[in-house]
Amino acid sequence: MPLLILDRDGVINHDSENYIRSLADWQPVKGSVESIARLSRAGFRVVIATNQSGLSRGYFTLDDLEAIHQHLCQLVEEQGGTVTGIFYCPHLPDEGCACRKPGTGLLDAIAAETGESVSGCYFVGDSLKDLQAARARDCQPVLVLTGKGEATLQQLQAGNAALRDPQSVPVYNDLAEFTRAILND
Ligand SMILES: [Mg+2]
Ligand SMILES: [Zn+2]
Repeated sequence: MPLLILDRDGVINHDSENYIRSLADWQPVKGSVESIARLSRAGFRVVIATNQSGLSRGYFTLDDLEAIHQHLCQLVEEQGGTVTGIFYCPHLPDEGCACRKPGTGLLDAIAAETGESVSGCYFVGDSLKDLQAARARDCQPVLVLTGKGEATLQQLQAGNAALRDPQSVPVYNDLAEFTRAILND
């Protein structure tokens, strides 16, 4: 079954400059949970790849993060879908880790754990970092306009984004619109 990779903040849930620190902060974007369930039911192995430097900043704990992810997985399961895995980078931007997007460590971990190539799979994100990581591993980057998406689109259109073939990145209003498009309804 093909992999389908999603960023979390700004794609599945509303993002915040103050970070998503607790279950109370975590508010799904309209239609996103249903979309993940539908993609899963349609045969995609849905995997999440998310930068969570707030862990290293001390804004929240691993327990807080796991509570959010359990809640998300449960909501998806209630609609008959499955989240195959959630991969996160806990590091600070200046730590020089391999996993913080635009680095590709999360994608490499997804490939290693699922035993599937990420090449050619959709990677839906709202930030340039997501699109760059996707390109670096030959995923099909997809931009949604929720979260930082509008600002990212302006960067792409201004031609000042460090991204190969920015004009070939498909753009959707949100995860629900992307899902309707690829499931043909
Ligand atoms: Mg994001
Ligand atoms: Zn990292």
